[in-house]
Amino acid sequence: MIIDGHSHVTLPVQEHIKAMDAAGIDKTVLFSTAFHPEAAKNFAEVKSSMEFLNDLLAGKKGSMVEERQKAVLELRDAIRQYPDRYIGFGAVPAGLERKPTLQYVDETIQKNNLAGMGEFTLGSGQIHLLKNIFCASQEFHNLPIWIHAFFPLTAADIKEISELAKDYSETPVILGHLGESNWLATVALVKEIPNLYLDTSAYYSTFVLASVINEVPKKCFFGVDRPFGDLQLSKNAVLQFAWTSAVANAVLGENIARLLKLA
Ligand SMILES: [Zn+2]
Repeated sequence: MIIDGHSHVTLPVQEHIKAMDAAGIDKTVLFSTAFHPEAAKNFAEVKSSMEFLNDLLAGKKGSMVEERQKAVLELRDAIRQYPDRYIGFGAVPAGLERKPTLQYVDETIQKNNLAGMGEFTLGSGQIHLLKNIFCASQEFHNLPIWIHAFFPLTAADIKEISELAKDYSETPVILGHLGESNWLATVALVKEIPNLYLDTSAYYSTFVLASVINEVPKKCFFGVDRPFGDLQLSKNAVLQFAWTSAVANAVLGENIARLLKLA
């Protein structure tokens, strides 16, 4: 079974399912999104879409609470349409007190049968804001936590995440995008910490992808990061650079199927 471990809701949902069928991807772990750059028809629209996201993240435009609610509804709707193809991970605000965090996770993640929490996209120096997210994971049967580990995170931030992973050793922690330019240090942490995993989407270079998947094949989850990645190209990259079919099979589906207990 081939599983894309990380893509965002793209509209229309039917087009995504068609693309999964064409690329031979059985299931996708689906994440919500506050914006839809895939709808842009030209560069100017792409630019304004990206500016909207930046303003939203900076608190300059709209309400992040409202946007997040809208995004969760969109995610829930997509999963309801294709329950056999999608597994959902839901966004949770970081930095809230313990009680409101638990309440949010109960209402948004538990009651919607979502399988994990994320993507957490934090600024550098903000990793401490995840403390109550880890508490919530522990409270709700060790829900996996998916963290964007690309710019602007630094090696020090990734190290801080790994310390949390050590403190909460039953919580699976997935570092997105192989740690970007910090991939060497990130692989060392993943080797040391059993509950720390890697997502291959937006890999830094094919050289990095090849080095990492063959070194820690049991710790890597294939990811596309649609709309930013292409399903077929991403899958082909793993197939081309895995040294053995055992490595390819582990990365392309077996590892995440085991983690999320998918039949
Ligand atoms: Zn990301």
